Amino acid sequence: MAVALIVAAGRGERLGSGRPKALVTLAGRPMLAWSIEALRNVAAVSEIVIALPAGELGAAPAGTVAVAGGTTRSESVREALHASAGGDPVIVHDAARPLARPALFERALADLEQYACDAAIAAAPVADTIKQVADDGRTVQSTLDRARLWAVQTPQVFRRSALEGALAAPPELLAAATDDAWLIERAGGVVRVVQSDPGNLKVTTLTDLHVAELLLRERGG
Ligand code: C5P
Repeated sequence: MAVALIVAAGRGERLGSGRPKALVTLAGRPMLAWSIEALRNVAAVSEIVIALPAGELGAAPAGTVAVAGGTTRSESVREALHASAGGDPVIVHDAARPLARPALFERALADLEQYACDAAIAAAPVADTIKQVADDGRTVQSTLDRARLWAVQTPQVFRRSALEGALAAPPELLAAATDDAWLIERAGGVVRVVQSDPGNLKVTTLTDLHVAELLLRERGG
């Protein structure tokens, strides 16, 4: 059976609400509740562990496991993994992506099982043209081949041994990792993208919060 780790220990300063982002009200519930509900509708998930700010462990609902997160996202993932009872594979999901649907988790789990890979990660094909700039931060150096670019999201699903190995990286690498799959890539592991869509947005700013609210209400949530 799979274990799901939800990382919700960030302070969310860019949202400016004065509360941890995962606990901000979104379409009538704490943002975190949307991810929990989605994961409860994934049959393969037997345990949900939530990394929360140390003073907010009470925010984890009955039937989930709460653990204090770390100072970086990867440390929060590691704390949650240690607190889990041992499920394999491991789903890692950001509470900041409240629009992920059960079917997306299921597709990632199915791809991990079907293909010879260490991780299967939700991602959306890039719609914008992406240019790389020089050291001055402004002069365009090159235009990347959009056909091969994917904007990475969560959920990210891992074989447990691969994630454990990746999270044993030194603290400076953990601090530099904006997603867990990067730690697997740099160790030579195989990571596959699972097609998602831009609607699985990450709530960072107040504008994102408003868009997420509209989309969730449109779903009838
Ligand atoms: O800050 P950002 O939005 O990139 O964080 C992504 C996710 O990681 C969020 O769900 C946030 O709560 C979580 N996080 C965490 N522990 C940290 C930093 C971020 O659980 N120390």
